[in-house]
Amino acid sequence: MSPLLATVEVRRTERLSPSYVRLELGSPDLARFGVDGPLYDQRIKLLLPGPAGLPSLSADSWWADWCAIPEEARGHVRTYTIRDVLGDGEDTRLVVDFVLHPGAHGPGSSWAAEAAVGDRIMLLCPKRGVAFGGIEFVPGDARRLLLAGDETAVPAVASILSLLPEDAVGAAFLEVPVEEDVQSLGGPTGVEITWLPRAGAPIGSSLSAAVLAHLGGGRAPAVSDAEVDPDLWETPTYSSSGEPLSAEGRDGLYAWIAGESKVVTGLRRALVSDLGLNRSQVAFMGYWREGVAMRS
Ligand SMILES: Cc1cc2nc3c(=O)[nH]c(=O)nc-3n(C[C@H](O)[C@H](O)[C@H](O)COP(=O)(O)OP(=O)(O)OC[C@H]3O[C@@H](n4cnc5c(N)ncnc54)[C@H](O)[C@@H]3O)c2cc1C
Repeated sequence: MSPLLATVEVRRTERLSPSYVRLELGSPDLARFGVDGPLYDQRIKLLLPGPAGLPSLSADSWWADWCAIPEEARGHVRTYTIRDVLGDGEDTRLVVDFVLHPGAHGPGSSWAAEAAVGDRIMLLCPKRGVAFGGIEFVPGDARRLLLAGDETAVPAVASILSLLPEDAVGAAFLEVPVEEDVQSLGGPTGVEITWLPRAGAPIGSSLSAAVLAHLGGGRAPAVSDAEVDPDLWETPTYSSSGEPLSAEGRDGLYAWIAGESKVVTGLRRALVSDLGLNRSQVAFMGYWREGVAMRS
């Protein structure tokens, strides 16, 4: 069963703050969009058009079709989070919050920065009744949550917070480029949100310090560039480094951490190696890597 491959149109743009633009992407095809359960950190793939314009792809063989287009013409695939879903039926719109990173241009942020109502791209997202994957927030019966991320993870954390039960307890730490990027987020009162405007400090330094202080640990260990896996993805059910998966229970703390890969690598080492958190209690995801473009 194939995922939903839709050509969507920009229906609305909103410059939220210096680092974010919010786009509403709509299409009658999104009438078939849906997941079985809460969306949480549901990711989607955007197919950003290259010089050849919108490609002709089949949902069953989209990747092979995409790769068959000459590289210089086909554009780029990028991963984003569904921040929210508006409307229903043929008026369904997916809300995506894009981080603008003008210092290091990328096709995703550049497209979002210029996007105007009526622009069209293709995306891959879950189709109702078809397994798609792409939700990593799986707290099980954890009694306490730790959510931590940088600006790229704010849309996911915001969505997770909005869908948590009212009695959820925990803490969320969000590092953003500047004070003006702080948003007002909903969520259970038992989950305390701490915003960490970077204001020129090294990426992840405030986030790492805040998370480790929260857990009563020390400093984040130094990580060399050679040790960073740009595709870092360590969850209870998948290990990009090939570590054995743990089947132990998940009571107590559950930590969901996403952001720049080197920062997340350091936090992972501190939490798993130094503080002894069990693999089944943590999801560590590299959402981007400083100086490295995502692979299409
Ligand atoms: C599961 C998942 C969900 C994600 N959700 C979102 C989301 O909702 N919103 C969002 O904005 N991003 C999200 N990201 C991150 C996004 O995919 C990356 O930031 C991606 O690199 C952006 O593509 P690009 O074409 O703009 O830049 P690329 O072509 O990938 O990179 C070009 C240059 O830009 C730099 N760069 C990339 N991202 C940033 C950044 N944030 N700040 C500074 N420099 C950067 C790279 O290091 C590189 O030097 C998500 C990633 C994953 C894996």
